[in-house]
Amino acid sequence: MICDNITVGQNGHLYFAGQDTVELAKQYGTPLYLMDEDKIRESCRVYTAAFKKHFGENARPLYASKANCFKRIYEIMREENMGIDVVSSGEMYTAIQAGYDLSHAYFHSNNKTDADIAYGMDNNIGYFVADNVEEIKAIEAEAARRGIRQKVLLRLTPGIDPHTYEAIATGKVDSKFGSAIETGQAEEITVFTLAQPHVELMGFHCHVGSQVFGEDIFERAAVVMLEFIADMKNKHGYMAPQLDLGGGYGVRYVESDPYLDVDTKVGQVAAAIKEACARLNIEMPEIHMEPGRSIVAAAGMTLYTCGTVKKIPGYKNYVSIDGGMPDNPRFALYGSKYTCLVANKMNEECDFVASIVGRCCESGDIIQEGVSVPSSVGRGDTVAVCTTGAYNYSMASNYNRLPRAPIVMLRGGNESYVAVRRESFADLCMNDL
Ligand SMILES: *Cc1c(COP(=O)(O)O)cnc(C)c1O
Repeated sequence: MICDNITVGQNGHLYFAGQDTVELAKQYGTPLYLMDEDKIRESCRVYTAAFKKHFGENARPLYASKANCFKRIYEIMREENMGIDVVSSGEMYTAIQAGYDLSHAYFHSNNKTDADIAYGMDNNIGYFVADNVEEIKAIEAEAARRGIRQKVLLRLTPGIDPHTYEAIATGKVDSKFGSAIETGQAEEITVFTLAQPHVELMGFHCHVGSQVFGEDIFERAAVVMLEFIADMKNKHGYMAPQLDLGGGYGVRYVESDPYLDVDTKVGQVAAAIKEACARLNIEMPEIHMEPGRSIVAAAGMTLYTCGTVKKIPGYKNYVSIDGGMPDNPRFALYGSKYTCLVANKMNEECDFVASIVGRCCESGDIIQEGVSVPSSVGRGDTVAVCTTGAYNYSMASNYNRLPRAPIVMLRGGNESYVAVRRESFADLCMNDL
C-alpha cells in the first residue's frame, strides 16, 4: 500500500489507521474525511527530531496550515510544539480559537490587506513574512501607529525551478511571490527594510514549490539563499538571524511515487548548509522549514458512497460518487494523481477501468481517470480515495450547494471522534438574508 496506515482486513474491507472504513462510512455517513491523528503526530515528531539532530536545538518545523486548517489541528500542533504558518486572518482566527499562541506563527501571503496586517498585530503575531516593498511600507506604517517594532522576514525568489506542476511552482524569478535575488530587487528590499525604524528584519524566506521530489532542490535553494545572506553581510553589515526554506516535500499519492525519508532529506540539506556557511565564512542562521502536505496528506482518506455506474461501450466507463470537486478539487485544478479503492471489495480482482467522477454539474468534476476497480462495482459500495489529508478540506467549497463533509479523527487503532461536523442545509443558508 502507498502508506503504512492503510491495510486490508480479513473481511476484505479496507482499513485505515487500524479501523474498518466500511463501518466508519456507515457510522458517520459519506462523503467523509478521515484523519489519522496518530499519523499527524508521528510526522510532527519525525520533523522535530530531524531538525534537532541536523540543524540544532533552535531549529523548528512550522506546519503550513493552509494544507488543512481547522481548530483541532492547531491543538495538535500546539501539543506537538510545532510552529505554524498562516496565510490569512481567517487562519489566524482559527488558530486563536484553538488556543494556539500566535507568537510562534509566521504570516505569509503575497498580498496582505491592511486589515490583515492590523489583525496580525492585534493578536501579537510573531512574524510577518513580507512579500514586497509595498508590504514592508504598510507593515512599517501600522507598527509606527502602534509604537511597536514588528519582526519580519523577507520572501525572496532564489530562481530555482522545482520541476513540479506549473501551478504549484513558486520559486522561479517570474513568480507572483517574493522578490527576486537575480534582478537585484531582493537587495533593494533588504536595504529598504533595514532603514525602517518600526520593523526588525529577522532574516529571509523562500519556498520553491510543492510536491517536490527533485534530488537537490532544497540544497540548491539553501545555497543560493546563504550566498545572498553572505552578500548582505559583506555589503551592508547585516547578518540574518533566521533562514526559512519553506515547505514542499512530496508525498506518495500512487505506487509509482518515490518514498521520501524526512530524516535523510533534512540531513542532506543540513550538510549543504554547513558546507556553504563554512565556505562563505558566516555563522549558520536558525533554520526553519514549513512542511504542510508532508505532515497531513497521508493522514487523510476520503470515503464516498458509489452511485450510478455508467458503461459507454467503445468509449469510457464512469463510476459516480456522492462527492467530487467540492470536497476534492485537485484533479480539476492540476490533474493530481490519487489511489482510489473500492473499500468493501478489496479482495476482488480489479478488471474494470473507469473514471471516478463527482456529482456536480460540471464535466471537469473528476476525482481520477483510468482507475481499475472490481467489475462488480455498483450502487452502495464504499469508494475510498487515499492521501487526501492535504489541500482537500482546506480547498472545499459548497458548489451545487453540497454541504461540506465532516472530519472524523481516528486514533489508537479503535477510537474515532468528530473534529468538524457535517454541514447542514441550514448552514448552507446561514448567511442568506
Ligand atoms: C504552501 C506553502 C507551504 C507548504 O507547502 P507543502 O507543499 O504543503 O509542504 C510552505 N510555505 C509556504 C510559503 C507556502 O506557500
